[in-house]
Amino acid sequence: MRRHENSLLSRIDPAMYDEMARHAVVVELVQGDVLAEAHDTIEKVYFPHAGIISCVVELAGGGVIETGMIGRDGEFGAGLALDDKISLNHVAVQVGGLASTFDAKFIVQLAEKYPGFRRVMMAYEHFHLAQVQQTAACNAVHSVQARTCKWLLRMRELAGDELNVTQQFLAQMMGVRRTSVTGVAIELQKAGMISHSRGRIQILDVEKIRRWACECHEDVRQHYDRLFPPSVG
Ligand SMILES: [Zn+2]
Repeated sequence: MRRHENSLLSRIDPAMYDEMARHAVVVELVQGDVLAEAHDTIEKVYFPHAGIISCVVELAGGGVIETGMIGRDGEFGAGLALDDKISLNHVAVQVGGLASTFDAKFIVQLAEKYPGFRRVMMAYEHFHLAQVQQTAACNAVHSVQARTCKWLLRMRELAGDELNVTQQFLAQMMGVRRTSVTGVAIELQKAGMISHSRGRIQILDVEKIRRWACECHEDVRQHYDRLFPPSVG
Protein backbone atom coordinates (compact mmCIF):
# COMPACT_ATOMS: atom_id res chain seq x y z
CA MET A 1 0.00 0.00 0.00
CA ARG A 2 1.36 3.41 -0.94
CA ARG A 3 0.12 6.39 0.97
CA HIS A 4 -0.59 8.77 -1.87
CA GLU A 5 -2.64 6.38 -3.92
CA ASN A 6 -5.76 7.32 -1.99
CA SER A 7 -6.53 10.93 -1.04
CA LEU A 8 -7.92 10.03 2.39
CA LEU A 9 -4.96 7.83 3.29
CA SER A 10 -2.64 10.66 2.22
CA ARG A 11 -4.18 12.78 5.00
CA ILE A 12 -3.48 10.24 7.72
CA ASP A 13 -0.79 10.97 10.31
CA PRO A 14 2.46 9.09 9.37
CA ALA A 15 2.55 7.03 12.62
CA MET A 16 -1.03 5.94 12.10
CA TYR A 17 -0.34 5.22 8.47
CA ASP A 18 2.51 2.85 9.41
CA GLU A 19 0.10 0.94 11.60
CA MET A 20 -2.46 0.84 8.80
CA ALA A 21 0.09 -0.32 6.24
CA ARG A 22 0.82 -3.42 8.32
CA HIS A 23 -2.85 -4.42 8.14
CA ALA A 24 -3.58 -3.46 4.54
CA VAL A 25 -4.43 -6.03 1.92
CA VAL A 26 -4.28 -4.66 -1.63
CA VAL A 27 -6.95 -6.24 -3.81
CA GLU A 28 -7.98 -5.93 -7.42
CA LEU A 29 -11.38 -4.38 -7.97
CA VAL A 30 -12.95 -6.21 -10.89
CA GLN A 31 -15.76 -4.57 -12.88
CA GLY A 32 -19.05 -6.07 -11.72
CA ASP A 33 -17.78 -7.34 -8.36
CA VAL A 34 -20.35 -6.78 -5.63
CA LEU A 35 -18.76 -5.40 -2.43
CA ALA A 36 -21.96 -5.29 -0.39
CA GLU A 37 -25.68 -5.80 -0.74
CA ALA A 38 -28.26 -3.62 1.01
CA HIS A 39 -28.61 -4.73 4.67
CA ASP A 40 -25.23 -6.50 4.71
CA THR A 41 -23.01 -6.03 7.73
CA ILE A 42 -19.77 -4.30 6.73
CA GLU A 43 -16.79 -6.62 7.13
CA LYS A 44 -14.27 -4.97 4.86
CA VAL A 45 -13.38 -1.32 4.24
CA TYR A 46 -12.08 -0.28 0.80
CA PHE A 47 -9.79 2.65 -0.03
CA PRO A 48 -9.52 2.64 -3.85
CA HIS A 49 -6.21 3.55 -5.53
CA ALA A 50 -7.92 3.49 -8.92
CA GLY A 51 -11.25 2.43 -10.34
CA ILE A 52 -14.77 3.37 -9.31
CA ILE A 53 -17.14 1.85 -6.76
CA SER A 54 -20.79 2.61 -7.35
CA CYS A 55 -23.56 2.81 -4.71
CA VAL A 56 -26.87 1.81 -6.24
CA VAL A 57 -30.45 1.70 -4.94
CA GLU A 58 -32.41 -1.27 -6.30
CA LEU A 59 -36.16 -0.92 -6.65
CA ALA A 60 -38.73 -3.72 -6.36
CA GLY A 61 -39.78 -3.39 -10.03
CA GLY A 62 -36.26 -4.21 -11.19
CA GLY A 63 -35.03 -0.63 -11.67
CA VAL A 64 -31.75 0.57 -10.24
CA ILE A 65 -30.30 4.05 -9.83
CA GLU A 66 -26.89 5.20 -8.80
CA THR A 67 -26.70 7.46 -5.77
CA GLY A 68 -22.96 7.90 -5.39
CA MET A 69 -19.53 7.11 -6.83
CA ILE A 70 -16.46 6.30 -4.76
CA GLY A 71 -12.95 6.50 -6.17
CA ARG A 72 -9.42 7.33 -5.07
CA ASP A 73 -10.77 10.40 -3.27
CA GLY A 74 -12.82 8.27 -0.88
CA GLU A 75 -13.52 4.96 0.80
CA PHE A 76 -16.35 2.52 1.22
CA GLY A 77 -17.40 1.06 4.54
CA ALA A 78 -15.51 2.99 7.24
CA GLY A 79 -18.34 5.27 8.34
CA LEU A 80 -20.77 2.36 8.44
CA ALA A 81 -18.32 0.16 10.36
CA LEU A 82 -17.63 2.89 12.92
CA ASP A 83 -21.31 3.26 13.69
CA ASP A 84 -21.98 -0.49 13.51
CA LYS A 85 -24.44 0.10 10.69
CA ILE A 86 -25.48 -2.04 7.74
CA SER A 87 -24.96 -1.20 4.06
CA LEU A 88 -27.79 0.94 2.71
CA ASN A 89 -27.11 0.08 -0.92
CA HIS A 90 -26.03 -2.46 -3.44
CA VAL A 91 -22.34 -1.52 -3.81
CA ALA A 92 -20.43 -2.74 -6.86
CA VAL A 93 -17.31 -2.05 -8.88
CA GLN A 94 -18.15 0.09 -11.89
CA VAL A 95 -14.61 0.54 -13.23
CA GLY A 96 -11.85 -1.90 -12.30
CA GLY A 97 -8.78 -0.87 -10.31
CA LEU A 98 -6.96 -1.56 -7.07
CA ALA A 99 -7.85 -0.85 -3.45
CA SER A 100 -6.27 -1.13 -0.02
CA THR A 101 -8.67 -3.08 2.16
CA PHE A 102 -8.89 -3.48 5.93
CA ASP A 103 -10.89 -5.60 8.28
CA ALA A 104 -13.76 -3.44 9.56
CA LYS A 105 -12.91 -4.36 13.16
CA PHE A 106 -9.40 -2.98 12.67
CA ILE A 107 -10.83 0.30 11.33
CA VAL A 108 -13.04 0.57 14.44
CA GLN A 109 -10.01 0.01 16.70
CA LEU A 110 -8.02 2.59 14.78
CA ALA A 111 -10.77 5.20 15.14
CA GLU A 112 -10.93 4.55 18.89
CA LYS A 113 -7.18 4.99 19.18
CA TYR A 114 -6.79 8.00 16.86
CA PRO A 115 -9.49 10.72 16.97
CA GLY A 116 -7.86 12.32 13.91
CA PHE A 117 -8.59 9.21 11.87
CA ARG A 118 -12.22 9.21 12.99
CA ARG A 119 -12.51 12.89 12.01
CA VAL A 120 -11.27 12.19 8.46
CA MET A 121 -13.68 9.26 8.09
CA MET A 122 -16.62 11.29 9.42
CA ALA A 123 -15.76 14.20 7.11
CA TYR A 124 -15.88 11.77 4.20
CA GLU A 125 -19.26 10.46 5.36
CA HIS A 126 -20.49 14.04 5.31
CA PHE A 127 -19.22 14.46 1.75
CA HIS A 128 -20.84 11.21 0.66
CA LEU A 129 -24.17 12.36 2.10
CA ALA A 130 -23.82 15.64 0.19
CA GLN A 131 -23.22 13.65 -3.01
CA VAL A 132 -26.28 11.45 -2.42
CA GLN A 133 -28.54 14.42 -1.65
CA GLN A 134 -27.35 16.34 -4.72
CA THR A 135 -27.94 13.25 -6.86
CA ALA A 136 -31.52 12.96 -5.58
CA ALA A 137 -32.25 16.59 -6.50
CA CYS A 138 -30.40 16.25 -9.83
CA ASN A 139 -32.31 13.12 -10.86
CA ALA A 140 -35.63 14.83 -10.12
CA VAL A 141 -34.99 18.12 -11.92
CA HIS A 142 -32.12 18.15 -14.42
CA SER A 143 -32.28 17.00 -18.04
CA VAL A 144 -30.80 13.71 -19.21
CA GLN A 145 -28.29 15.69 -21.30
CA ALA A 146 -27.10 17.76 -18.31
CA ARG A 147 -26.97 14.68 -16.10
CA THR A 148 -25.02 12.70 -18.68
CA CYS A 149 -22.44 15.51 -18.85
CA LYS A 150 -22.27 15.65 -15.05
CA TRP A 151 -21.79 11.89 -14.91
CA LEU A 152 -19.00 12.07 -17.52
CA LEU A 153 -17.20 14.75 -15.47
CA ARG A 154 -17.29 12.64 -12.32
CA MET A 155 -16.21 9.51 -14.21
CA ARG A 156 -13.35 11.42 -15.82
CA GLU A 157 -12.22 12.75 -12.46
CA LEU A 158 -11.86 9.19 -11.18
CA ALA A 159 -11.01 7.16 -14.28
CA GLY A 160 -9.60 9.48 -16.97
CA ASP A 161 -10.67 10.31 -20.52
CA GLU A 162 -11.34 6.76 -21.72
CA LEU A 163 -14.31 5.14 -20.07
CA ASN A 164 -15.21 1.52 -20.55
CA VAL A 165 -18.94 1.79 -20.03
CA THR A 166 -21.88 0.92 -22.22
CA GLN A 167 -24.79 3.24 -22.90
CA GLN A 168 -27.03 0.59 -21.38
CA PHE A 169 -25.06 0.77 -18.16
CA LEU A 170 -25.07 4.57 -18.19
CA ALA A 171 -28.85 4.63 -18.69
CA GLN A 172 -29.29 2.17 -15.85
CA MET A 173 -27.13 4.23 -13.50
CA MET A 174 -29.13 7.36 -14.29
CA GLY A 175 -32.50 5.59 -14.10
CA VAL A 176 -33.51 6.54 -17.65
CA ARG A 177 -34.31 4.69 -20.88
CA ARG A 178 -31.40 3.56 -23.00
CA THR A 179 -32.84 5.43 -25.99
CA SER A 180 -32.62 8.71 -24.03
CA VAL A 181 -28.92 8.17 -23.37
CA THR A 182 -28.32 7.08 -26.98
CA GLY A 183 -29.92 10.35 -28.19
CA VAL A 184 -27.71 12.38 -25.86
CA ALA A 185 -24.59 10.44 -26.87
CA ILE A 186 -25.29 11.21 -30.54
CA GLU A 187 -25.68 14.94 -29.73
CA LEU A 188 -22.46 15.02 -27.72
CA GLN A 189 -20.61 13.20 -30.49
CA LYS A 190 -21.95 15.62 -33.14
CA ALA A 191 -20.76 18.52 -30.97
CA GLY A 192 -17.26 16.98 -30.82
CA MET A 193 -17.43 16.41 -27.05
CA ILE A 194 -17.10 12.62 -27.02
CA SER A 195 -16.63 9.70 -29.33
CA HIS A 196 -18.42 6.53 -28.46
CA SER A 197 -18.32 3.02 -29.73
CA ARG A 198 -19.56 -0.23 -28.29
CA GLY A 199 -18.70 -0.30 -24.61
CA ARG A 200 -16.38 2.67 -24.70
CA ILE A 201 -16.71 6.45 -24.36
CA GLN A 202 -13.77 8.75 -25.10
CA ILE A 203 -13.95 12.30 -23.73
CA LEU A 204 -12.69 14.80 -26.33
CA ASP A 205 -13.74 18.27 -25.10
CA VAL A 206 -14.04 18.45 -21.34
CA GLU A 207 -14.62 22.22 -21.26
CA LYS A 208 -17.67 21.92 -23.45
CA ILE A 209 -18.93 19.03 -21.32
CA ARG A 210 -18.54 21.30 -18.28
CA ARG A 211 -20.64 23.98 -19.97
CA TRP A 212 -23.41 21.52 -20.87
CA ALA A 213 -23.44 19.84 -17.45
CA CYS A 214 -25.72 20.89 -14.62
CA GLU A 215 -24.12 22.55 -11.60
CA CYS A 216 -24.31 19.41 -9.48
CA HIS A 217 -20.78 18.10 -10.11
CA GLU A 218 -19.25 21.45 -9.21
CA ASP A 219 -21.45 21.84 -6.10
CA VAL A 220 -20.42 18.41 -4.81
CA ARG A 221 -16.76 19.14 -5.61
CA GLN A 222 -16.97 22.33 -3.53
CA HIS A 223 -18.22 20.32 -0.55
CA TYR A 224 -15.20 18.03 -0.93
CA ASP A 225 -12.73 20.91 -1.18
CA ARG A 226 -14.22 22.55 1.91
CA LEU A 227 -14.05 19.32 3.94
CA PHE A 228 -10.61 18.37 2.57
CA PRO A 229 -8.77 21.61 1.70
CA PRO A 230 -6.19 20.99 -1.07
CA SER A 231 -3.42 22.51 1.10
CA VAL A 232 -3.85 19.81 3.75
CA GLY A 233 -2.24 16.39 3.35
ZN1 LIG B 1 -27.71 18.01 -11.72
